Amino acid sequence: MTHPDVEAQVDAYLDGELAAMDTVELEAHLAGCASCGRFRDDRLALRTAIAAQLPRTEAPEALRGRVRAAVRKAAGPGRTHRLAPPMARRWLALAASLAIVAAGSWRLATAHTASEILTDEVLASHVRSLMPGHLSDVLSTDQHTVKPWFNGKLDFSPPVHDFAGRGYPLLGGRLDYLNGRPVAALVYGRRQHLINVFLWPATGSSGGGAPLVRHGYYLLHWTTPEYTYWVASDLGLSELTTFAGLLQLGDSAAASGR
Ligand SMILES: [Zn+2]
Repeated sequence: MTHPDVEAQVDAYLDGELAAMDTVELEAHLAGCASCGRFRDDRLALRTAIAAQLPRTEAPEALRGRVRAAVRKAAGPGRTHRLAPPMARRWLALAASLAIVAAGSWRLATAHTASEILTDEVLASHVRSLMPGHLSDVLSTDQHTVKPWFNGKLDFSPPVHDFAGRGYPLLGGRLDYLNGRPVAALVYGRRQHLINVFLWPATGSSGGGAPLVRHGYYLLHWTTPEYTYWVASDLGLSELTTFAGLLQLGDSAAASGR
């Protein structure tokens, strides 16, 4: 079983709808694959969030009637009596829960649209940057080369720090496009892992959000009085949080020096 297989089947697995053989295969893969394990944890967290935020709703009687009629029709005239009541009830429950999940997903989706779109954009930019030739426009480990490179390319001059001494060397920078505007992307390394830092002038209030996990990547984001930062990497959360702390220290030192 491959990673995409797991991602495609994990919902059915969590619903207990997977055949026994598939369940064994999937659990074997999960036991040995940290990235698919994180994907499963992510799906579980989403389910918990949906369950916690949505009121439990009974399907309206009209919907029940329509589902009953649809089930009878699907069963065909000759087969009406062969559709045992427990089976019909199971279909009814399934259809009703699908309707509730659809309504709930829509409600969550509209509430979270703006931040989810940005999260998707950051993730897409990070993944795209990992493709050959896309990582950086200016390849340099020298902050005094990378920072001036942005001059004239952006309407702001991003703070650029090298953390090689702390094990997070600066590798380069590039222009990117996020949240409807050109942004600075700084690339750092940690052993074989790459870290993308996206930043642009802040428009909202300062603060931070909880770490996000998407397809095995961690995303951190926060806003200072001057800049909005997004950090994306497949690095472990604790090392990535340490790195974010270095960025925040560098940013506040630069701010107090201005
Ligand atoms: Zn996997």
